[in-house]
Amino acid sequence: MNDSQSPLDALRVLQQASALAAHLQSQGVDWLPAADADEVQRLKDSFSAWAKRNTESVQTDKPSLPPSTGQPGGRETQQTAPAEPPKPSASPAANPPRQPAAPLVVTASNYPTPSLPIQQRADTLNVLSDQVAACVRCDALARCRTHTVFGEGDVKPRVVFFGEAPGRDEDLQGRPFVGRAGQLLTKMIEACSLSRQEVYILNTVKCRPPNNRNPEPIEIENCREYFEQQIQILQPEYIVCLGAISTQALLNNRLPLGQLRGTFHQYFSSKVVVTYHPAYLLRTPAAKKAAWTDLQMMMRDAGLK
Ligand code: URA
Repeated sequence: MNDSQSPLDALRVLQQASALAAHLQSQGVDWLPAADADEVQRLKDSFSAWAKRNTESVQTDKPSLPPSTGQPGGRETQQTAPAEPPKPSASPAANPPRQPAAPLVVTASNYPTPSLPIQQRADTLNVLSDQVAACVRCDALARCRTHTVFGEGDVKPRVVFFGEAPGRDEDLQGRPFVGRAGQLLTKMIEACSLSRQEVYILNTVKCRPPNNRNPEPIEIENCREYFEQQIQILQPEYIVCLGAISTQALLNNRLPLGQLRGTFHQYFSSKVVVTYHPAYLLRTPAAKKAAWTDLQMMMRDAGLK
């Protein structure tokens, strides 16, 4: 691992550790090793320092993302290496005492890495987007696509809308939700007193599945690294999952939509709203009322009028 890879590699390790902890809690494990508070603080400080240094230097340099070593689609990068935060030392909590797991509490941010400054977010997303554009992890999708569809919008959004996979129009334009379902999504966003420009829209899978079939589980897993990193960078207050595919991918479960709607879920410190996919709403207009109820739940909570 070279200097340019470290911050996002560390970010990925932290994401995996946090996801594992959340999964264990959701499965009823009532104890977890306590994090060493000093280590956590040290890691946060080092990321903040790294982000600050890079914000000062991004006027000319893009930050580098790690190539996906060992994975098809990984792209070697020749860009200038940003400074690396110091590595945490080995934790003394190797054999920690058993203790009850802390309840899931929404704090300002419990994402494993600090919120990045706006310019840093844009630059990091651009590098990730380049990596997605070169991805060939899913042979069938990479062969068929016209464009990858990374996502777009405000890089410091309150709300992220999380879809399934590009359709034909999105594949042709390289932009999310620009077809008929996209027009309905735009109306849903505007009904929340928001605009497309002030939210961020992304999909679970970045390439169009042939004939608009559902993405295969392996295709979702191949893209997991990308959507998790996007959300990690965006750290929105709310994530609106559109349909079962994005909901199950984000929450890592297989529960039906009907069981997940009507209440907030949590993804790190983001509140997750589950609702119907706009394409389903086009086919089933009777479900629009329920979707509106889901969005109103978020609007009330977010103080959106
Ligand atoms: N459906 C999706 O889930 N995403 C798009 O971008 C378009 C249609």
